[in-house]
Amino acid sequence: SSRSSSSTSTKMAPKKKIAIMTSGGDSPGMNGVVRACVRMAIHLGCDPYCIYEGYEGLVRGGDLIRKMEWDDVRGWLSEGGTLIGTARCMAFFERAGRLEAAKNLIAHGIDALIICGGDGSLTGADRFRAEWPSLLDELEANGTYTALELQPYRHLNIVGLVGSIDNDLSGTDATIGCYSALARVCYAIDLIEATASSHSRAFVIEVMGRHCGWLALMAGVATGADFIFIPEKPREDNWREEMCGIVEHHRSLGKRKTIVIIAEGALDREGNKITPTMVKDLLADKNGLALDTRITTLGHVQRGGTAVAYDRMLATLQGVEAVKAVLEATPETPTCVIAINENKIVRKPLMQAVLDTKKLAKAIESQDFDQAMALRDTEFSEQYKSFMMTTAVALDHEMKLPEKERMKIGFINVGAPAGGMNAAVRAGVAYCVSRGHQPIAIYNGFAGFARHHSDSPMGAVREFNWLEVDGWASKGGSEIGTNRELPSESGMETVANLIENYQFDALFLIGGFEAFHAVSQLRKARDQYPSLCIPITLLPATISNNVPGTEYSLGSDTCLNELVEYCDKIKQSASATRRRVFVIETQGGRSGYVATLGGLGVGASAIYTPEEGVSLEMLAADVRHLKTVFAHDKGQSRAGRLILINEKASKVYNARLIADILRDEAHGRFESREGIPGHMQQGGVPSPMDRCRAVRLAIRCIQHLEEFGKNVHNKVKSDPMSATVIGIKGASVVFTPVGKVEEEETDWPNRRPKAAFWSDMKDIADILGGRPKYKKPE
Ligand code: ATP
Repeated sequence: SSRSSSSTSTKMAPKKKIAIMTSGGDSPGMNGVVRACVRMAIHLGCDPYCIYEGYEGLVRGGDLIRKMEWDDVRGWLSEGGTLIGTARCMAFFERAGRLEAAKNLIAHGIDALIICGGDGSLTGADRFRAEWPSLLDELEANGTYTALELQPYRHLNIVGLVGSIDNDLSGTDATIGCYSALARVCYAIDLIEATASSHSRAFVIEVMGRHCGWLALMAGVATGADFIFIPEKPREDNWREEMCGIVEHHRSLGKRKTIVIIAEGALDREGNKITPTMVKDLLADKNGLALDTRITTLGHVQRGGTAVAYDRMLATLQGVEAVKAVLEATPETPTCVIAINENKIVRKPLMQAVLDTKKLAKAIESQDFDQAMALRDTEFSEQYKSFMMTTAVALDHEMKLPEKERMKIGFINVGAPAGGMNAAVRAGVAYCVSRGHQPIAIYNGFAGFARHHSDSPMGAVREFNWLEVDGWASKGGSEIGTNRELPSESGMETVANLIENYQFDALFLIGGFEAFHAVSQLRKARDQYPSLCIPITLLPATISNNVPGTEYSLGSDTCLNELVEYCDKIKQSASATRRRVFVIETQGGRSGYVATLGGLGVGASAIYTPEEGVSLEMLAADVRHLKTVFAHDKGQSRAGRLILINEKASKVYNARLIADILRDEAHGRFESREGIPGHMQQGGVPSPMDRCRAVRLAIRCIQHLEEFGKNVHNKVKSDPMSATVIGIKGASVVFTPVGKVEEEETDWPNRRPKAAFWSDMKDIADILGGRPKYKKPE
C-alpha cells in the first residue's frame, strides 16, 4: 500500500494530500484548527485541502473540496465560528452518500482526513473508515475506478479533533471551544450578578448542554452560584427543599443575590426534566422564599465570538498533532482522536471516546448516575465536589471535623496580584468553614504580617468573614493585599514569633516566584525556629507562569486572554494601505511563557524570549523575512503583523528599538510601531479557567495541610511533604516538596523553572508563523 511504501522510503513517497473538515455545531477555535493543519501539512511537505460545509462538501465534492495555500488561512486564529462552513448532512448517514464521499476524495487524490467536530461527526468518521475497503470494492465493481487507480488509496487515515462548546466528549478534559463558551457564560453571569445584588433578586440562568453539564458546573464554580442543575448528577429527590434550604441559609447570612444555573438537559432522579420555570416558581413562591426571581436563557451567545487564548492554544497544538498522527498512522493503528488530559496533548482511540460518550448519554437516560459521573474526566467530578463544598457551606454537618482536629490556618498572598487569587482564597475559606477550621487572613503579605502591630497601616491579621469572602469569586487583584517582601526581609524571627503567637497550625500561600522563595526560606529556617515546623503549601499564582514545580500558575490564563485581545485590536488597526508591523512588549519576568503562548494565540511573525535571547542574526533573518512577505503582499492583507517580545528578552533590543530597526530597513515599504500593554496584562475580571482552577487547587491545598493535623512539629520537620508546591505537571495534579523543587527544578538566577515545558510550543508558533530558521545565539 502507499503507506508502507512511504514508511520504507520517505524520499520517494508520493506527497500526501491531507483534507481538513469542520462538522457539527460550530465552535470557537475551529478556524485555529484549520490554520494549524493547513500550515503544518505544508511545512511537512504535504498538500492540504479544505472540505467546505462538513460532510455535505464531502458528498457533493466539486469546488467544495479546495486545495489551500499558506496565505489562505492568514488571520484565521482570531475569527469566530468556522470559515470553511459546517452543515448537518443527511446523505452521509446513508451508504450511498458515503460512496460519493469516497469517490470525491479519490478524485482529488486525498488519502488522509482530519475531522473537527462533535461526537456525531466523529461517529460518522469512524463508520466511514471502517467501511472504506468495501466502498473501494464497490467503486471498482461499478466501474468508477480501476483496481490500479484505487491501489494507492487502499488505506484511509482519519484523525478526529473535538470541536464543541459544551465539552461533551469523554476522554478529553476540554474540547476546542468549551472555554470560550464558558467565558461568554461567565461574562453574562457576572453582569447579571450586579443587578441581582442591587435589587436583591434571584436569577435562574439556563446554559447549553443537553447531555453534558460541564458549562453549568464550571460556571457555577467560577461565579460561586448558589445552586446548579446538571444532567449527570441530579440532586436528591428532595431537591426542592435542598435548594430552598441553601438559598435561605445564604440569605440569612446576608447574601443579597441568588444565582441558580441550570443546564438545558437537567433532570431529576426519575428522569423528569427540570425547567427554569419550575425553579423560578419555587424561589418566587409567596409562601416560601418569595424572592423576586427572573429567568435568563443565554442561548446562542454562548457559541459566539472569537476563541479565548486557551482554545487557540488547544486548536493549534491539537491541529499540529493531528497532522503528525495522520502521517504516522498505519493500517494497523486504530483511528485516533486528539485529546488533552490536564496539560498534556494525547492521542486516544477515537471509537472508545465515542462509545464512552454514548454510554454516558445512555447512563443518564437509564438513571445510572454513578456511571454517568464515572465516565466524565476526573476534573469534572472533582469540580463537582468543589462546588458542593464551597456552596453548601456549614450546612453539611457530616463534613465537620471533631473539635480537636480543627486547625487554625493562615492565608497569605505574596508577589504581584494575579487573576484567581481571590477565588482561591474564597474556596479555601469556604472549605475551612465547612470542615470547622479557622481560616485567618494575613493582610499585605509578609510585610503586612511583620509590621501589623506597629503604627503603620500596613497589615492586619483577622479571621475571615464568610459573607465578605463569598463575593470574591470573580474579583480581580488581591482582596487581602499582596506584597513582594520575603520573610528574610520582613525579619525571619519576627515572622516565626508571630506564627507562634497566633498559634497557626498551617500556612497557605498564594503567589508567584517570591511566594515560592518565601516557602523555601521558611523551610530552611525551621532548624532555627521550631514554630516554623507547621505544614506549609503554595498555590502558584502569577501571570508570568514562572513558578517551578508547576506548568500552570493562576492568573496566566487571564493574562493571555488580555494579551490576545489587545493584539487582535492592534492588528486590526492596520489596513492594506498602511502596512504595519507591531512590536508588542509582553510581561513575564525572565520567562518567555507569556510571549510564546500569546504569540501562538495571535499568529506572531516572531517571538523573542529571554530563554533564547535576541541576536543580530536572528533580527536580520526576521527583517529579511518581513521584507519578502511585504514584497509579495499585493495589498490583500487586511491586518498588520505582530512581533512579540518579552520585556527581559534582551538587555539591548527592546520593542521600540526593534520597531525602529524595522522601519529603517523597510525603506517605506512598510511601517512599524511598538505597543506596550503593560499592567493591562494582569487583567480585570479573572478568566473562568483561572477561577475554576483556583477553586479546585485551593481545596486540594487545604486538604493537603489537613492531612498533617495539629501539633505535629516533629513529624513536620522530617517530612519533605510538609513544605510543598501544588502544580499541574503533564497529565496530573501533584504536590512536590519545595526542597526538591529548589534543588532540581529551579533556575535561581533567572527566577524560573529550569525546563521550559512550552519550548515545543515555541517551535510550533515559529513554524506556523512562517518564521525563517536562524542561527541560535551561543
Ligand atoms: P455537536 O456536538 O455540535 O452536536 P456533532 O458532530 O455531534 O456536533 P451531529 O449533528 O451529530 O453533530 O453530526 C454532524 C454530522 O455528522 C451529521 O449531520 C452527519 O452528516 C454526520 N454523522 C453523525 N452521525 C453519523 C453516523 N452515525 N453515521 C454517519 N454520519 C454521521
